[in-house]
Amino acid sequence: MVEVFMRGKTHCAAGILAGIQLSIIFSMPVSIINIIASAAFSILPDLDKSNSIISGFIFRKKTSEHIYKLLIYTLNAAIFFMLIKMNADFLVSGIISFFIIIIVEKKVSHYHVRKYLVSFSLLLIALLLIIITNNIFFMFPFVVFAVFPWLKHRNFSHSIIMIFLVYIMMKPIEMISSLDKISVISAFSYGFHILCDMFTRQGVALFYPFSSKKISLGYIKVGGKFSNIIEKILVLLLFIWTFISVAEILGIHII
Ligand SMILES: [Zn+2]
Repeated sequence: MVEVFMRGKTHCAAGILAGIQLSIIFSMPVSIINIIASAAFSILPDLDKSNSIISGFIFRKKTSEHIYKLLIYTLNAAIFFMLIKMNADFLVSGIISFFIIIIVEKKVSHYHVRKYLVSFSLLLIALLLIIITNNIFFMFPFVVFAVFPWLKHRNFSHSIIMIFLVYIMMKPIEMISSLDKISVISAFSYGFHILCDMFTRQGVALFYPFSSKKISLGYIKVGGKFSNIIEKILVLLLFIWTFISVAEILGIHII
């Protein structure tokens, strides 16, 4: 399958490096938590795509496939036994349930069930956080992202409004915890993902919901050999830049 967008791994690597770079430029703390936030928020926009890295991280695809199969089998068996109870004729019940099963399998797809499972997992985390922290601010990001699997890909998730929303959601968490500058880092990493996607041919609906027009700054077709090389070169350049910056801070002059 040809991926339409930059791959999750590239997003994650670029997000972490850009996060570190931002911290260095603006003299912000480079903590482990901030790096984790950078990594997470740089792949979170693609949560509206059920085969993305972040979606697989929240709920394993293999597990959701097993649950889906179990659900379908249980549903089919239930339909069959219900029909047998209603209609004593085994043959008639068998034929009717055969057709109902075909309809059920057509209507209930794995991706549909998967969306519920991803959303449900995030809501469960939100609930646990409320119980553990006794503070509603920790749950907001999880509740907002629980909606993501149901959104149209690349619209709301890849908009400027969402970057602000990430900042607004993370600010109270920063204030009530000791997580210094996590709101800026999170919003920046989220925005950096969108910026990277803007260089793909597909573009992003940056001004959603005011405009659904896809804005693109480049012609990179993701998934192709050329774009894979470009992605690697960009990450490498960013890595070298970050490496030099860190070395400068430590007093080692490379150039
Ligand atoms: Zn994306």
